[in-house]
Amino acid sequence: MHMESRKDSCERIFNELVNIGLISRSHSIKVSDKWDYFHAGLKTIHYNLKMNQLSENSIRISLLHEEGHIRFLYRSILYLFLIFIVIMSIVIFIQFEILVKIFSIIIIVLISVWYFLFLEEYQCDKFASILLRDKYKISKPSLVLEKTLEKMPHYGLSALTHPSINQRVKKIAEIVDEKTFDIKIE
Ligand SMILES: [Zn+2]
Repeated sequence: MHMESRKDSCERIFNELVNIGLISRSHSIKVSDKWDYFHAGLKTIHYNLKMNQLSENSIRISLLHEEGHIRFLYRSILYLFLIFIVIMSIVIFIQFEILVKIFSIIIIVLISVWYFLFLEEYQCDKFASILLRDKYKISKPSLVLEKTLEKMPHYGLSALTHPSINQRVKKIAEIVDEKTFDIKIE
């Protein structure tokens, strides 16, 4: 190992996650300036070098989120395919003009894909947060998620396909964070 790679926190933390079995051994990591933050390919997590500036837990939650995307990919494709088949069969049997049928199929498929992308973001956040809570003893992963997402504002297409930071943080606070009994003294 040379000095350069030791300074690369993303690569080091990726290897740590592989070694403790949280990321599959068949997956790899690669620097890419094509992406602003992190991105999941078929079996490779791409990341921008500036992501090395994030805190260790932010890098962990991001890498695990992308690992979630890789793991859920085949399942998502299968679900979308099934949704498409069901919609096609329903629409084909309804007595409508062919153009109305085609238009309905396009609209329903677009809404399903959009809904599914949202759903998958939540699933990947949940996957990453549970591992952070259980393997790294972080009782409130929603706080790590919040700090991480604030450094990755999304815009354009990504804003369309991702729920807002608030929605994502709130969801994890509700379903993953350990509930402590805070006594408020007022
Ligand atoms: Zn994602």
